[in-house]
Amino acid sequence: MTKIAVIGGGPSGITAALFAAQNKENEIFVFDKSIILNTLLPTGGGRCNLAFAQYNFKELAKFYPRGEKFLYSIFSKFSTAQTIDFFEKIGVKTYTQDDLRIFPVSNSSKEVKNALLKETAKHKNIKKVFENVVEIKKKDKIFELKTNKNSYIFDKVVISTGGRGTGQKLAQNLGHNIIELRPALSSLITKEKDFSALSGVSLKDLSASVFFENKKIKTLSGDFLFTHRGISGPVVYKISSYCAYLDFNEKNPLTISFNLVNKNFETFDEKFLNNLKHNPQKETASILSEYLPKNLALKVLEVKQVNPKTKAGQLTKTDRLKISKSVTDFVFHAVGITKGEEIVTAGGVDLKEIEPKTLESKLVEGLYFCGEVLDIDGLTGGFNLQNCWSTGYVAGQALKEKV
Ligand SMILES: Cc1cc2nc3c(=O)[nH]c(=O)nc-3n(C[C@H](O)[C@H](O)[C@H](O)COP(=O)(O)OP(=O)(O)OC[C@H]3O[C@@H](n4cnc5c(N)ncnc54)[C@H](O)[C@@H]3O)c2cc1C
Repeated sequence: MTKIAVIGGGPSGITAALFAAQNKENEIFVFDKSIILNTLLPTGGGRCNLAFAQYNFKELAKFYPRGEKFLYSIFSKFSTAQTIDFFEKIGVKTYTQDDLRIFPVSNSSKEVKNALLKETAKHKNIKKVFENVVEIKKKDKIFELKTNKNSYIFDKVVISTGGRGTGQKLAQNLGHNIIELRPALSSLITKEKDFSALSGVSLKDLSASVFFENKKIKTLSGDFLFTHRGISGPVVYKISSYCAYLDFNEKNPLTISFNLVNKNFETFDEKFLNNLKHNPQKETASILSEYLPKNLALKVLEVKQVNPKTKAGQLTKTDRLKISKSVTDFVFHAVGITKGEEIVTAGGVDLKEIEPKTLESKLVEGLYFCGEVLDIDGLTGGFNLQNCWSTGYVAGQALKEKV
């Protein structure tokens, strides 16, 4: 028998265990300091957005600000189609939303968790150990593992402790380089504090151009949400992800210019100015509210110091242009992220030291990694769980074959 320790029973570790267990010569011990697969429960707001309907693996890899090229060989073996198939086989039917995000038909992350647990229970060679792994040492060909309760000896080890676990430290002690951990996919706190009354107001499919230290970083798009302390929603998560390694703060903020009307609404300026011209008796606020939620329209006018009750026909040319520019170039200054609420961690075990075909360490024979502990993170849309299923599969498959 080959004794394998899987440290971390999250989605990636459990996937690795399931595939490794297909070889009956493997005896697998899944260690978790908490409840196995509980990290799945809050995903997708409890609905578990488990994948994204992009079936070309190179296109799929583009959704990962870190890890894109490394994922090519992994996704060529196991990506969206294989994920759907895998879940179908364990009794979880899935469906694709209009925005291409894939969910279980039940819309329940609990169902996904239970199906994976049921599958795990079918394998007599998978055992669960509810202990916190605090140390791993390699002596000759053997791994010595210490937990908060016991000591063990293993032939092989998989580290799958996620972004916030202690796996990076365990890997570092075994000689691995760790790319600095940074929160990604988070809401942003803005310098502009007087928008809290708009908290909860959301806008569909905006585009945003992001600048830092007078350099353009990227133009991104997606849905948008005002919060008590700033801004959020998928477009803001994307910004936080691409800017994860920029040190923006109160003194040196990110400058984000939003087009507040739908990104496909390219003729807004023309339409809005025509609308003002043809309706001289209408109040400016009422015309602007045809394009924006009313309270946001009022805020835009307040910021631009235009009386909302001013009749369209009485606006000066400067005011008309000022309002229309403000809608398509509405600027926020981001001074930080909402700490502790990030969805994913950027950084982790340096990919240069990992063999992508097997996910085995190039430094320590018999040591494998999968999931968020690696320096891989995706945008919102099912990409981070896809990373778990795919890297879990590749590590598990390598352990199934290499005994
Ligand atoms: C609120 C929220 C919503 C999300 N929604 C989505 C979504 O809809 N779609 C998507 O793709 N992604 C989503 N994500 C991201 C996704 O959940 C993670 O990327 C994924 O869970 C990472 O899986 P993992 O197996 O690598 O690690 P984890 O899920 O973090 O699991 C690691 C496990 O290891 C255990 N552990 C850690 N250290 C030790 C140790 N030393 N000894 C023993 N056990 C240890 C932990 O207890 C844990 O159970 C969401 C994240 C959050 C926070």
